Amino acid sequence: MSLLTVGTVAFDDIQTPYGHAEKVIGGACTYISWAASYFTKDIRLTSIVGADFPQDEIKELEGRGVSMEGLKIVQDGKTFFWAGKYHENMNQRDTLQTDLNVLDDFDPELPESYTDSQYIMLGNLTPDIQIRVMEQLKNPKLIVLDTMNFWMDIAMDRLKVAISKVDVLTINDEEARQLSGEYSLVKAAEKIFTMGPKYLIIKKGEHGAMLMSKDKTFYCPALPLAEVKDPTGAGDTFAGGFMGAIAKSGDTSFEGMKKAVVYGSAMASFCVEEFSLGKMKTLTEQDINARVQKFVDLTSFSL
Ligand code: AMP
Repeated sequence: MSLLTVGTVAFDDIQTPYGHAEKVIGGACTYISWAASYFTKDIRLTSIVGADFPQDEIKELEGRGVSMEGLKIVQDGKTFFWAGKYHENMNQRDTLQTDLNVLDDFDPELPESYTDSQYIMLGNLTPDIQIRVMEQLKNPKLIVLDTMNFWMDIAMDRLKVAISKVDVLTINDEEARQLSGEYSLVKAAEKIFTMGPKYLIIKKGEHGAMLMSKDKTFYCPALPLAEVKDPTGAGDTFAGGFMGAIAKSGDTSFEGMKKAVVYGSAMASFCVEEFSLGKMKTLTEQDINARVQKFVDLTSFSL
């Protein structure tokens, strides 16, 4: 079933205790689309880049079944650029630079063939762009929105408008606290449900992810890994795996979402093993199934 992906397609500069990757491919939409491409072959990408973005990368995604009709290429523009440096513990990072470049005046007009998309993954991006995309959809089945503190700091009012229109919000624990003004994640979730979403996914980095509705909670741990080289894109990869699994099953019940959270977590566990998309481009169905089984083993017990 059709999956619309929206977000940045970017160049990143990443420093972690494992090394320094300069001008590598990144962006929320890139990670989302790569992860989702292992589950569904009807993905419709919506983003913007400059002429400096490599054609090969576009072709590779196309080869994965991702439609590029919605990728705007600005001939005299520069691609979005983000630079970040991780602390020794890899859980925290500092943003060193964010150059919006072509994103500054992106007005996403969906191709007519995208407007009937059923599953919508609004990756981290300006809230105004996320709203503009939602306004053009004819009959979406499930809208999921991801965001980050950057947009809370500079566009909180518009972000709240965007959040009011979605079914599922995915954010990390610190962002849930910032958005709600509550330290307890249970109280934060209660407040966020009054803002519109019916489901909330709180990402807790190496401590896993929590799926919440008004009356149910599901927790999926992260897989303990011997080596984490680069956590960049883990959240987006989680979102891509989550939404890819839902687009494949068509199951938007709480039980269906629980399974999708495990698939998302499995995909994110691959993402962090290499810099940029290094690992994400090499996976097979067997790799993914074996990894999902590790999550099952990790949490199963009998009484
Ligand atoms: P994550 O590690 O899941 O937060 O995602 C990191 C990716 O998001 C990087 O590849 C960046 O290019 C992209 N990114 C960083 N800052 C922003 C921002 N303010 N808006 C949209 N995308 C961003």
